[in-house]
Amino acid sequence: MAHEFSRAYARQMDVEDPLRGFRDRFIIPQHNGRPVLYLCGNSLGLQPKSVRPAILHELDHWAEEAVEGHFRGEMPWMPYHRFLQPQTAHIAGATEEEVVVMNTLTTNLHLLMVSFYQPTPSRFKIIMEAGAFPSDQYAVESQVKFHGYDPAEAIVEVAPREGEEALHTEDILQAIENQGEQTALVLFSGVQYFTGQFFDLEAITHQGHAAGAYVGFDLAHAAGNVALNLHEWGPDFATWCSYKYLNSGPGGPSGVFVHERHAYAPELPRFAGWWGHDEDERFLMRKGFKPMRGAAGWQLSNAQIFSFAAHKASLDLFVEAGMDNLRRKSEQLTGYLAWIIQHLNEAHGHRFRIITPADPARRGCQLSLLTGPEGKGLFDYLSRRGVMADWREYNLPGGKAGGVIRLAPVPLYNTFEEVWELGSLLAHAPD
Ligand SMILES: *Cc1c(COP(=O)(O)O)cnc(C)c1O
Repeated sequence: MAHEFSRAYARQMDVEDPLRGFRDRFIIPQHNGRPVLYLCGNSLGLQPKSVRPAILHELDHWAEEAVEGHFRGEMPWMPYHRFLQPQTAHIAGATEEEVVVMNTLTTNLHLLMVSFYQPTPSRFKIIMEAGAFPSDQYAVESQVKFHGYDPAEAIVEVAPREGEEALHTEDILQAIENQGEQTALVLFSGVQYFTGQFFDLEAITHQGHAAGAYVGFDLAHAAGNVALNLHEWGPDFATWCSYKYLNSGPGGPSGVFVHERHAYAPELPRFAGWWGHDEDERFLMRKGFKPMRGAAGWQLSNAQIFSFAAHKASLDLFVEAGMDNLRRKSEQLTGYLAWIIQHLNEAHGHRFRIITPADPARRGCQLSLLTGPEGKGLFDYLSRRGVMADWREYNLPGGKAGGVIRLAPVPLYNTFEEVWELGSLLAHAPD
């Protein structure tokens, strides 16, 4: 698409943006009396203005009703998880029964692996992307050891080709085919946290199932970022956190998807708790676990109301804006940033190397810029001018020190003018 690198052009894009009003629903931190240029929604989303009243509402409910708060009011605490199911289903592209909010992400990865990683001596391998988020690596490694297998043998990592950072879908599918019937679980991220690559989740699911394996996804960087269609794509499970693109605040709760085909599967091994037990009998305090239908049957404990209230306030904004609309704007916003960087590269000898796939269908909103050791200087220059982004040290092939600057323009609260501003800072960055 042909763009223009000018403030006036970017402003016009904002004027034409049907979602422009949502920025005003967020609190934007200040830097030297101006709003910061916040490009870190991939790490911690900004605070929706509706979060504070939502938490205050629950504090009042507690003050006024005490234990009766479980049963009284518009949103009694007892069935509270249900008040988040419709919005979560919207984010995940799932039915309400297929989703639930509970615990935190790494906890849920473990709980889901208890059900969906059932290794046997002939089928014990887990296939995942190389360089997965460390918490996922630790979770997988410890699960493999827990079952008495050797991580070096059981964990198969799909690595990029020589000199590349993103993965080819065909290489992922080939790796699954190569392991064949030894594969117990295929576990990939949805959007890779480092490169920003959006994997072909449908193709991976089909190939994993063709090998007779379970398939699960960590959607920490995908939820609220790309349009998901989990019900149709058909993985067995997925889980994600809510404090990144979903703006639910630090340590916010995690979302879980379990496909309908496992909606009632009492024979699946699981670590159970009373909140996953059949609601009608929960308070009979009887022996013998009987799971609720759907993802709710994986719940352990009663809901953490304050963090759920914040999460609900934020999720409601996503439903109001609509994931498809957000994704449409996101492709334009990130497309504009990619175009500007390309434009600067043509003018200034290819300074900025984007390792995120160029195809909008294969990325979310984040672009990752790979730099040499001078990248930290560039990052600090941007920070001093009010840009909040993210810097990660990274060893380049050959062991040379470098880093990645991750830039995530978020369609709910970032503007085209901000993208232009970032571009003009990059254009004037010292070498
Ligand atoms: C952010 C992130 C996590 C963090 O896990 P928590 O349990 O929420 O602390 C884990 N995995 C991935 C892929 C992430 O992006």
